Amino acid sequence: MSQVWKDYQEKNNDRFLNEMLDLLRIPSVSAKTEHKSDMLTCAEAVKKSLLEAGCDKAEIMATDGHPAVYGEKIIDPAKPTVLVYGHYDVQPPEPLELWTNPPFEPTIVDGKVFARGSADDKGQFYMHVKALEILTKTNSMTTNIKFLIEGEEEIGSPNLGKFVAANKELLKADVILISDSSMLSMENPSLDTGVRGLSYIQVEVTGANRDLHSGTYGGAVANPITILAQMIASCHDENNHITIPGFL
Ligand SMILES: [Zn+2]
Repeated sequence: MSQVWKDYQEKNNDRFLNEMLDLLRIPSVSAKTEHKSDMLTCAEAVKKSLLEAGCDKAEIMATDGHPAVYGEKIIDPAKPTVLVYGHYDVQPPEPLELWTNPPFEPTIVDGKVFARGSADDKGQFYMHVKALEILTKTNSMTTNIKFLIEGEEEIGSPNLGKFVAANKELLKADVILISDSSMLSMENPSLDTGVRGLSYIQVEVTGANRDLHSGTYGGAVANPITILAQMIASCHDENNHITIPGFL
């Protein structure tokens, strides 16, 4: 890290930390309707932080669900653009009895911040917001930077696809940097280059409509469990590669 950046970070460390703690105090639980106004409060706070960090513009953009926050700092349209993706919503904190501190009252223990969202994803995307601030305030920008901080990641991003399709030009970028990940350790800053996806289906196999115990009644019948086991086993080959036609 350049010494100028380090100096700026050290000089502003307390403010950076306090701003992040304020963000963590907002119970932006996307899965619960009673937190709808907290979601808006959090989106406003994210927008404000982007503007204060040096974005030329930042706005709260409506979706069919919780809003997304967009911000950008364009230094030269001819230069490459980095799009930072993150999310400001958090998982519901229940069961509360398992918390040693209230989930929306950040507590620092051994230099680590404990609060709902501190490690997923408020802490991480805020780090990128502060990185932008350091770059803008020390005149170090070499690329354009855009931010898309959504509010529905924890409920499966049901409106993100539509939002992205409707805002292709706005979100156009050369590189996407996802804040929603982790480092190997404090000593090993890391960049994840790929993550698992998620796909699920529900299969129902029905067999005899009544109990067929030992004996001859009902004749020879396949057991639905065996059929299901065969179906599941046939999804992968001996090297664990997926065998479903057309699967990418
Ligand atoms: Zn996340």
